[in-house]
Amino acid sequence: MSDALPAGVEHREIDGTERLATRGEPVYGEPRDGEWRAWNPNRSKLGAMLELEMDTSLAGEETVLYLGAASGTTVSHVADFSGPTYAVEFAPRPARDLLEAAESRPRLFPLLADARKPETYAHVVESNVDMLVQDVATRGQARVACENARFLADDGRLLLAVKARSEDVTREPSDVFADVREELESAYDVLETRRLDDYHTDHLGIVARPR
Ligand code: SAM
Repeated sequence: MSDALPAGVEHREIDGTERLATRGEPVYGEPRDGEWRAWNPNRSKLGAMLELEMDTSLAGEETVLYLGAASGTTVSHVADFSGPTYAVEFAPRPARDLLEAAESRPRLFPLLADARKPETYAHVVESNVDMLVQDVATRGQARVACENARFLADDGRLLLAVKARSEDVTREPSDVFADVREELESAYDVLETRRLDDYHTDHLGIVARPR
């Protein structure tokens, strides 16, 4: 298992199984051990990227902009070990649950906004964030990442989960991933890619830095 986990993320034995875990209030019925709660990589692309030992550069305490927060499953773990964490979600129903996850997390800032319109939250999100984490699972995933590159510090990182079927259900995932990578390269240098299929079918994890 990875030694390169950020501070505040550990592999711990919970319910008799070694699991990725962070410290915080429970959000999705996850197993717990005291203040530690299991981070399920089958429900989290970023969790899967960490389990697969991708070099995310996460050290802990970073400023994070998270796009596609849904009801807060993954971003709640991120906020457990990060600095200010801005969580963008455009669907009102999951955003309500996200607000609940934020109640016990003073550094988690939910934003009901469309990630394709970064100008609508540019006045709230600080510039030069360390990490842009994206899991929007809609068509145009590369474009969203490129449009939000403006928020990243020069030495920041994009941690992107790409769902092939959200781009085109009829195409081979590897062809979709090649196109996404090409489009991303207008704004980023891609540092690492890894199929996440062990945890998420037809998903690709990408680590990139802004050009
Ligand atoms: N990242 C979440 C997690 O691991 O807990 C799961 C995210 S789910 C796969 C994708 C989410 O992205 C959905 O909740 C969807 O509403 C949201 N989404 C899709 N397009 C979006 C956009 N343009 N702006 C904001 N949210 C978006």
